[in-house]
Amino acid sequence: MALEEYKRKRRFEETPEPPPKVAVKSGRRFVVQKHRASRLHYDFRLELDGVLLSWAVPKGPSLDPADKRLAMQVEDHPVSYFDFEGIIPENNYGAGSVMVWDVGKWQPLSPVQVEGKYVPANDEEARAMLNKGDLKFRLEGKRLKGDFALIKMKGRRAGSKGNEWLLIKKHDQHQVEDYDIDQYDSSVLTKRSMDEIAGDEASAEWRSRPAGRGKVKAPWLADAIAKLDQKKAEERKSASSAAADSTAEAKTKSKKKSSRASKPAKSEPIEIRAAEKKTKKLKSA
Ligand code: MN
Repeated sequence: MALEEYKRKRRFEETPEPPPKVAVKSGRRFVVQKHRASRLHYDFRLELDGVLLSWAVPKGPSLDPADKRLAMQVEDHPVSYFDFEGIIPENNYGAGSVMVWDVGKWQPLSPVQVEGKYVPANDEEARAMLNKGDLKFRLEGKRLKGDFALIKMKGRRAGSKGNEWLLIKKHDQHQVEDYDIDQYDSSVLTKRSMDEIAGDEASAEWRSRPAGRGKVKAPWLADAIAKLDQKKAEERKSASSAAADSTAEAKTKSKKKSSRASKPAKSEPIEIRAAEKKTKKLKSA
C-alpha cells in the first residue's frame, strides 16, 4: 500500500493531482469522479486507513439493483484526491478531465443482519470484508444513497489480473429502476459540466453569451433563472453534440496515435476497454 503505485504512475511536476501522502487521520468519506480519459469512466473511492481505496467503473455506479457494474480496483489514491477536479495534461497517466461527480460519507455494514436489516460495522470488519472480496456498505452522498455491495470476481479467465469487482445496489428505498447516470453531468463541487471543466469551445460559447437579464434581486429567483439557463444550455448542447461527436472522435483518434508512440505506459484505458468487453459477456451470460 502506502501509495507507491500512485506515485510511480505519475509525474508530479506535470500533473495537478495531489502528492502521494498517507493521511494520519482517517474519516469515512467517499467520492465518485467522472473521468474523461481516452475512455470515459467513473472512479469510485472509499476512504480507509489514510488512503482512498479506488475502483474504475466503466459505466459508473447505478441505483438500479438489476445493474451489476464492473469495477476494477486500481491503485490507492491519497485522501487529498477527494476534491480533485480539473485537467490531467496530455501524455500523463489518466490524461483528460476529472469531475467530482458525488461526495459523501460511507459506512461499512456487517454481513450479519439484525432483524433483516444491515447494521454498521467497524473499520476492522471492513478490512476483513475487503479481504474476503465481499464488502457491504451504505452511502450517504448527494446522488448515491443507500446500501451497496462490492463483490470480487473470481479470476475466471486466463490473464485476469484479479482486480475485477462488481458494484451492486442493494434493494432499499433508495433504489431507482432504469437508473440513468447521464442525467447528471455536473460537478457537485462547482456545478460545472464535463465540457466546462475541459474548457471545450462548445461550453465557452454558451458561457460567454451576454448576460442580458440584468441583476436579479431576489436570490431565490436568481437561482431559478440560473437553473433555467443551464437547462436551455444543456438542450442546446445535446442538439449540437450529435454533430460534434463524430469530428471529436476523429480528432482523439489521431491524437492517440501520436501520443502512443512517445509513451506506451498508459495502461488504464486498455484495461477499461477489456472490461467493457467483459461486461457485454456478462450480460449475455
Ligand atoms: Mn480514472
